[in-house]
Amino acid sequence: MSVMKLEDVKKIYKMGEIEVHALRDISFEIEDGDYIVIVGPSGSGKSTLLQILGCLDRPTLGNVYIENSEVSSMPDKKLAEVRNKKIGFIFQKFNLLSHLSALENVELPMIYGNVPTKERKKRAKEYLELVGLGDRMDHKPTELSGGQQQRVAIARGLANEPAFLLADEPTGNLDSKSGKEILQIFQKLNDMGKTLVVVTHDPTMESIGNKVVRILDGAIESIEVKKNGNT
Ligand code: ADP
Ligand code: MG
Repeated sequence: MSVMKLEDVKKIYKMGEIEVHALRDISFEIEDGDYIVIVGPSGSGKSTLLQILGCLDRPTLGNVYIENSEVSSMPDKKLAEVRNKKIGFIFQKFNLLSHLSALENVELPMIYGNVPTKERKKRAKEYLELVGLGDRMDHKPTELSGGQQQRVAIARGLANEPAFLLADEPTGNLDSKSGKEILQIFQKLNDMGKTLVVVTHDPTMESIGNKVVRILDGAIESIEVKKNGNT
């Protein structure tokens, strides 16, 4: 089943007289259960693409379908609803709120999603346990290592039970050991059936996932579908 589809997506940033063609006719499909790695050098358009996939931004031209509804022309409020319900986002710099505990950070999207308090706390605990932080729930971000903060961000990304998780350079701010732990968690989530899209400039990460999308200068250079699924 297709969870998301892009059709001829273009993104042009206008800065005064200058136009930056960040995405040029991007078309591809994300299927349920995919673990897609989008690889490309710095400036190739990866973050722009992920923001469009995550409904944080709209294409200049082209269509974006989530579960067969066209989302790029939806009004802002409707788009925010889709984003909240369908998409979990993980950033390079974790983006946790520093005055909240790990548990409270994971609860936050469920507060916006109107999940009742008891259910919310239960789920937040379960997700923190899933990422191996059952013993760190009351810690503030500054009391956690980078890898642990990113694991809180993953638990937060899972909180609203999204149709898919998007991660922008999720290991970019981590040492290699913590980075590997994050990738192990992603693999576990994918084994559980979660659909994942991870963006990276690091070609060694082409070994993960079941599809590799290589982008260069805003265009898809190649899409590789691995024969044996996940490695
Ligand atoms: P990547 O994540 O692969 O490094 P980006 O998507 O961040 O690439 O950027 C792609 C291109 O679009 C770059 O040339 C970048 O300078 C430009 N760009 C990104 N965001 C903006 C913006 N908000 N305004 C203008 N240009 C932008
Ligand atoms: Mg980027």
